[in-house]
Amino acid sequence: MTKRLVLVINGGSSSIKLALRQQGSSKPLFEAQAERLNTPQASFSCSGGETQSLGDADHREALNALLPLIKKYAQLPISVVGHRVVHGGEQFTGARLIDDEVLAGIQANAPLAPLHNPANLSGIRAATELLPDIPQVAVFDTAFHQSMPPHAFRYALPDELYAVHGVRRYGFHGTSHQYVAHQASLLTGRQDGYGAWLSAHLGNGCSSCAILDGKSMDTSMGLTPLEGLVMGTRSGDVDPNLHAHLARTLGWDLPRIEQLLNRESGLLGLSGLSNDMRELEQARADGHGGAQLAIEVFCYRLARSLAGLAVALPRVDGLIFTGGIGENSALTRALTLNHLAVMGLHLDPDRNSGLPRGEAGRIEAPGSPAILVIPTDEERQIAEESLTVMDRQPAQMETPA
Ligand code: ADP
Repeated sequence: MTKRLVLVINGGSSSIKLALRQQGSSKPLFEAQAERLNTPQASFSCSGGETQSLGDADHREALNALLPLIKKYAQLPISVVGHRVVHGGEQFTGARLIDDEVLAGIQANAPLAPLHNPANLSGIRAATELLPDIPQVAVFDTAFHQSMPPHAFRYALPDELYAVHGVRRYGFHGTSHQYVAHQASLLTGRQDGYGAWLSAHLGNGCSSCAILDGKSMDTSMGLTPLEGLVMGTRSGDVDPNLHAHLARTLGWDLPRIEQLLNRESGLLGLSGLSNDMRELEQARADGHGGAQLAIEVFCYRLARSLAGLAVALPRVDGLIFTGGIGENSALTRALTLNHLAVMGLHLDPDRNSGLPRGEAGRIEAPGSPAILVIPTDEERQIAEESLTVMDRQPAQMETPA
């Protein structure tokens, strides 16, 4: 069977990222990123090495400039465009072919993701205008977590806030947790998609998740991506009364507090140095106290979250590390596992430090549940889900002109 092509698009507020993926392939055929859109410094760069200034280009103009390059790498017609969309609210429990109803749904969920959903819509509009004959699919970061039971997704707040205003835990990083849990089942010789997993996605944003037989049972992020773990610049969990305390004692308003919690906290705030784990590891090795504290808090809070999430599962078949930190930082994995002996999880130190970069592997000691390092591939997951949506459509939708 011919392997179909998918163009994966991730529209940001001032950027658009593209990846051309072939069905079933672990490597993109072509990748490009346009940045600083809507400013005089707008430009794109591509995996082939091409770069170009784009003047004041918007999303549509940037995509238009990139299309000839995409066509150069696409030997076949593109079957579908798959868009990453951050927030699908409760309306979207899986990927959807984009039509007017889906567009309206993404717009309606914008209050829950005011920076991301409008940016995702800019990418969708650009692609729909420029590639009108190719079906477009939306893949939502939140959809995977719609399987969480109410006792996991409800806050202990008056019912009206949920029923009328949608205040609940949604969770994010769904495509990544879903992808690595699936890979974990394959790596451990289980039936496709099966197993009880704890997953730690540790990038600039960080979240943990409990997954049972391919379904999210609970996750650390909530109404917004601020809840849960310590992240690069985000605080993760703090006492909810912190807002009132800062307002009363320092006179801070909400925008100032949002800035603090989202941009000045996490690894950056604790270390006073950097939000970048690589840099912090180096500084820790050089004796920087702030870097050492930041890494310790990061790992302890991660372990505490993972141990808490275990109650969402009937057993723990294994723990998965992914994202830039999870995949690359043997130190983070080791310090986190130091706190998880209570769960019978034990690392093999040599396997942990010896794992080749970019490769999936098992790093547990004998007798421990599996501990896996699995490079995430959100674009591949988006591509595969987009094709699955196409396979459910009437036949005429599958062969664009
Ligand atoms: P994003 O969430 O933006 O996709 P990534 O998944 O790329 O981010 O993760 C970025 C984080 O991964 C940074 O903190 C970076 O320092 C960390 N990282 C990448 N490589 C290494 C490494 N070799 N050792 C430790 N940390 C690393």
